[in-house]
Amino acid sequence: MAGSLIVVAGPSGVGKGTLIRRVLEADPNLWLSVSATTRQPRPGEVDGQDYVFLSDADFKKLVESNGLLEWAEFAGNYYGTPALPVLNRISRGTDVLLEIDLQGVRQVRESMASARTVFVAPPSIDALTARLEARGTEDRAAIARRLAAAQSELEAAGEFDCVIVNDDIEVAVGQLLAWIHGDSA
Ligand code: 5GP
Repeated sequence: MAGSLIVVAGPSGVGKGTLIRRVLEADPNLWLSVSATTRQPRPGEVDGQDYVFLSDADFKKLVESNGLLEWAEFAGNYYGTPALPVLNRISRGTDVLLEIDLQGVRQVRESMASARTVFVAPPSIDALTARLEARGTEDRAAIARRLAAAQSELEAAGEFDCVIVNDDIEVAVGQLLAWIHGDSA
């Protein structure tokens, strides 16, 4: 049986990374797609593991050769999902997770109608702002761009099949696993 495509989105700083790491640890049949990006690596990020880090020119080549399932410009950088690894794993029965922005979610909904989408929401905008500032990985201008994107992402939460509020991480992990395995959240 084919695996399913599960798309996770939510504003930058909401804690999607931790949530996804925890569900991957809990479910060995889940595989997280590694995106390509033109953003600079953050300290500790590993090429090929966190992202495939590409130049603008190489990213453009990937777009032109139809190598991406979806792609978008987010806060001044390009991001995209390499198509083949995702399609291969789904056909072999693995459930694949994508962690992408709202523009990407909309493209995947068009191209893969069976995709299931989940939105991870912060308890409040103040909590999100505090998290982005505490993370310290972006300068002030980048934080402002990410908060602006967060506003429009939050307005779109109603488009998703499921919304999980990441207030208590243990609760959120349990809710996401339950939803992935077919319980209604
Ligand atoms: P970050 O720079 O914080 O790693 O990611 C910024 C945003 O880009 C996040 O909202 C993340 O979900 C999104 N993103 C990461 N990879 C992809 C991708 O392959 N496609 C799209 N559309 N967005 C992505």
